[in-house]
This record gives sequence, structure tokens and C-alpha cells, in this order.
Amino acid sequence: MATDSIWTEARIAELGRLWQEGLSTAEIGRRLGISKNAVVGKAHRLNLPSRPSPIRNPPLRMAPRIVQEPEAMPPPPPKVVQIAGGKGPACQWPHGHPGTAGFHFCGKPAAPGKPYCAEHVAMAYVNSKSRDDAAA
Ligand SMILES: [Zn+2]
Repeated sequence: MATDSIWTEARIAELGRLWQEGLSTAEIGRRLGISKNAVVGKAHRLNLPSRPSPIRNPPLRMAPRIVQEPEAMPPPPPKVVQIAGGKGPACQWPHGHPGTAGFHFCGKPAAPGKPYCAEHVAMAYVNSKSRDDAAA
């Protein structure tokens, strides 16, 4: 084991110190007067902790870019008929017959939690039969 003969106590101590400083294996080898491979091999045998990449030695090749997948888009919110220029849902009480020229929705501000305005909520839930009369 000729290579181990170079590892005096002083060199091993120096290796550990320079290693902790984050010097490259080549630089440590230069300072200890030994080859880079000897430094790498000894560091491996000593189980020296891996270090962050040396700052002064940027890699020649950039690591491949990892393109982050954009997070899945949330589903679009349910379509709500909006009052023109207003806020909140509009009354969706139909006037006329669907498909005819005069057909439209009420469009007044809807009651909270209801699809219709207060007036049409009353018609829908109190006297729902009245809609059947119009369709008859
Ligand atoms: Zn209405």
C-alpha cells in the first residue's frame, strides 16, 4: 500500500481541515503535495462528510434544468350569471319561453343563497304552480 505511506498524521489532520474549509480535492492535493486521486481516496476511507459544491470551482457544464411542472390549474368556478356592472349572482327566473326572441332572465340581484331575487323566490317556493300556468 504505497499510497497510504504518504498519509502522515499531519497530512491527515490537514486533509480534514482543508476538507472542512470546502477546498476542492485538487486544491487540497496541491497544498499537501499529493495527487487529487490520493485526496479523494483518503477522504473516502476516512468517511469525510460530503460537502457542498466548491464555490470557487463552478461546474463547467450546467446541470440539466429541471422544469417544474406547473401545478394543476384549479377547476374554473361554476358559471354564475352576473348582474351587468354589479356584484353577485343575478336572478335566473326565466321570462318567456327558451328559444324565443323575448326570452330572458329576470336579472335582478338574487337573494342570498338563492338563484332568484326575493320576489321570484317567493313565487318559486310559495306558489310554484304558477309557472305551469304560463307554460300551458
Ligand atoms: Zn327575479
